[in-house]
Amino acid sequence: MKYKNPRVKPIYPVYRLNNQRFRIGAQLGITVEFDDPEGQLFSLASRLTGQKIEEVIKAVQDEFPELTTEDILSGLKMLDEQGVIEETLPEETDKDRYLPNINYFSRFIGITSNRFEIQRKIHESTILLLGLGGGGSNILTLLSGLGPKKIIIVDYDRVELGNLGRQFLFRETDVGKLKTVVAKKAINEMNSDVKIEVHNLKIKSSSDILQYVNGVDLVICAIDEPPFIIHRVVNKAIVEASVPCVFGASQVSRGRVYTVIPRVTGCFDCLNLNFSKHDPKFLSQFIGFREADFNPPSIAYGPGMFQLVGSIVDESVRVLTRYAKPQSLGTQFEINYEDGSSFTHQTWPRFEAECPTCGSGKIDDWEIFKYYQDKDVKYG
Ligand SMILES: [Zn+2]
Repeated sequence: MKYKNPRVKPIYPVYRLNNQRFRIGAQLGITVEFDDPEGQLFSLASRLTGQKIEEVIKAVQDEFPELTTEDILSGLKMLDEQGVIEETLPEETDKDRYLPNINYFSRFIGITSNRFEIQRKIHESTILLLGLGGGGSNILTLLSGLGPKKIIIVDYDRVELGNLGRQFLFRETDVGKLKTVVAKKAINEMNSDVKIEVHNLKIKSSSDILQYVNGVDLVICAIDEPPFIIHRVVNKAIVEASVPCVFGASQVSRGRVYTVIPRVTGCFDCLNLNFSKHDPKFLSQFIGFREADFNPPSIAYGPGMFQLVGSIVDESVRVLTRYAKPQSLGTQFEINYEDGSSFTHQTWPRFEAECPTCGSGKIDDWEIFKYYQDKDVKYG
């Protein structure tokens, strides 16, 4: 039989609205309502607590002798199609530190999938995290709670007093110390399941990144200096290494997340091509920005940063496990810290024949790339 010990997902309540209807779930968007004047489906649903299916069938038939086994199984199928039931699994234990995550994942899967499988995929993942600033340090804290196999961290900076308003990995006593050293110790104390490897390095070329990508399942780019240029350098490395990358960037009161799956979605240079083709102001805007030599002070408000960081890490888990569809493949997912809203920009395609980085295009055919030159950071 397909069902062994089915249960209504413990994340959902089962309750009557009146003697005609009942509900499973209480959250807007994931509540299902059933017409059930006879009370038969309610009888089945309220018995789905993880007992053997044979016992459930017998108990329902004791109450409603007119129901055949097939009738009851079709009721189960209906509940399954609504995504509200799952199998009770032997690995279930309250001592599992990841159980709340697993319960969250249960919302997204049907009875034939194993919610522990999603957590297992996280446990098997190696992530390369670039940067330990306002984004990266908090990304690291969230990652540590999720328990990947290994996190490789690259950063060159030291902890400063001005970091402490939003970088909660660091303490006052850490001021002046190398962020990588402090981060390694902090994560070892938070979650000893996670292996941490740190490298003190300011990334100045794509080969700086390529030396660390061996065995990496996902790169998270949380560096943004120099603006745009460093993303292009990271993009070159991840395309060459064929490793997906989630990029994050914070502006004044908005943040963006976008993801590149090499040779599947458009890459960062494809985005440059897309703007060059479709946005008549793009080139002049980019040149003007570069010529202004704009060096903003650190603009990072902790509560805003956390909205962005939450999206970056969730997107990373989506890309790694596909528990739900990633939201930023070939598009920019933008979060407005001022009102908590978010939207996705227009998608951009992969330009296989024209992109100099992920396709067979020539760099000299695109004027925009001339303005990506930098005195400190090399593309190659
Ligand atoms: Zn490309």
